[in-house]
Amino acid sequence: MQNAGGDVDVLIVGAGPVGLFLANECARRKLRFRIVESRAGQSEHSKALAIFPRTLEVFDMAGVAAPFLEAANRVAWVALRSPQRTLARLRFAPPRTPYPFVAMVAQDVTERLLLEQLVDRGGSVEYETAFVSAAQQPDRVQVTLDRHGETSAVRAAFVVGCDGAHSAVRHGLALTFEGAEYADSFMLADIVTNQTLPGDELQICPNADGPLAIFPMNAAHRRVVAMFENAQGDAPSFELVRETLAQRAPAGLEAESLVWSSFFRIHHRCVSQMSVGRIFLAGDAAHIHSPFGGQGMNTGLQDAWNLAWKLDLALRGHAANELLTSYSVERLRVVKGVIEVTDLMTKVFGTRSNLAQTARDAMLPVVSRLPSFQRAFVARLSGLASSYRGSPIVEGAGRRYLDESLRGGEGIKSRFALLLGAGANEAAFAAATRLVMDFPDVLELRTFARRGMLLLRPDGYAAYDTSRSDDAGLRSIRRLLQRQVR
Ligand SMILES: Cc1cc2nc3c(=O)[nH]c(=O)nc-3n(C[C@H](O)[C@H](O)[C@H](O)COP(=O)(O)OP(=O)(O)OC[C@H]3O[C@@H](n4cnc5c(N)ncnc54)[C@H](O)[C@@H]3O)c2cc1C
Repeated sequence: MQNAGGDVDVLIVGAGPVGLFLANECARRKLRFRIVESRAGQSEHSKALAIFPRTLEVFDMAGVAAPFLEAANRVAWVALRSPQRTLARLRFAPPRTPYPFVAMVAQDVTERLLLEQLVDRGGSVEYETAFVSAAQQPDRVQVTLDRHGETSAVRAAFVVGCDGAHSAVRHGLALTFEGAEYADSFMLADIVTNQTLPGDELQICPNADGPLAIFPMNAAHRRVVAMFENAQGDAPSFELVRETLAQRAPAGLEAESLVWSSFFRIHHRCVSQMSVGRIFLAGDAAHIHSPFGGQGMNTGLQDAWNLAWKLDLALRGHAANELLTSYSVERLRVVKGVIEVTDLMTKVFGTRSNLAQTARDAMLPVVSRLPSFQRAFVARLSGLASSYRGSPIVEGAGRRYLDESLRGGEGIKSRFALLLGAGANEAAFAAATRLVMDFPDVLELRTFARRGMLLLRPDGYAAYDTSRSDDAGLRSIRRLLQRQVR
């Protein structure tokens, strides 16, 4: 339920993809929320393009996937190409997911689709309304907003800053944004091309002048991103884009017209904690990374997914101590991994050393043919290998779990599920039922086709997973639940 004015459960600052997705998750749970955006409307730029398989699974569980699947150009290959030849070609088709591809959807379309679904759920964005400051009280946050020079106050139980890299919410918390700027600039251009390159293949083109990546938005519309040493002005001309393609792209690719272009510089930065008291940060407000690997928006959307159920349980009075603090712990581990991988890719592809370039160009075609490399590369970029191992509210590997019953937006909200193997005996069923009755508001019992037991979190990760269904397992599950819910 969206509140126009007055007190709210959640105040979301910023209507980029992360804020819009979080608003959808609040609306799905019928929380009282507001989402404010300083701009007059949504951004019209195509920025983030790649939506990876785990994000699609999350969209599916959240009930927002369908229009994305319709809008997307599906990419199932990643090729390493020099102007003259294909150095390697790798299938991007992770197993055991309903989404074995990368969905290419321009960010302005992503924002429109999330906004439309938010409106369908009764929500709306308050544009030209900027977050100014926040003062934390023991039971809520007093926020000052500015609309056309007039300030207003709102009291929120929780505030989530999804307000991008220059986050005012982060500044208000006096959190530093540790990291560094990369030395090179990037050229970005959305172009209409001839159709010499396959529409379901993403190309990475290592080059002595700097790498070039080509993303197919559809058969004739491509995004090119190139590392650039001496960028002049805000945006490259069409001539410069063509010159760059002639030097670095696979032979035969012709740019026919320019849709949008920009030069930009990049940083890798991250906060030391993603929450302070009742104020949380998500998306670019908390972490920014190199565009190599296309992980930025995906990581931010996963932040929102991790946070929404925890806020919901807290608002309903079911959160024990470790639940809300686990957000920062769990997400920072994932974020640091993303920064490491994208930084490595940036260094490998962006090196200026002739020696390193020669070694890379000799090694990559060989390494990328190894099945173990291919599996690791796809698992990492797809988001499917992300886990919450080591989290204080997880025991074991903390891997993702998905089955049909969780899909479509109704299957999983803010309740845990105790999944019991269909082969479990009567005593195990009785013991599991007793456990569920001790957590009636937050836990339900389901069966699954595997052996053993699994405590499934509301975000589709296993808090506990065992191939046995015995009392020791149930005791562990009880302990884990007591740590995070009541
Ligand atoms: C050129 C480019 C290409 C990229 N390509 C990819 C890619 O392929 N894959 C990928 O995953 N990521 C990519 N990214 C990164 C991706 O665009 C960002 O990670 C993503 O936009 C982050 O979303 P967000 O919602 O966290 O922040 P943003 O999209 O920055 O949204 C923040 C919103 O908050 C609003 N706001 C700011 N201050 C206030 C305030 N005080 N009050 C109210 N509202 C406020 C802003 O106006 C903005 O609308 C790319 C980025 C760029 C620039």
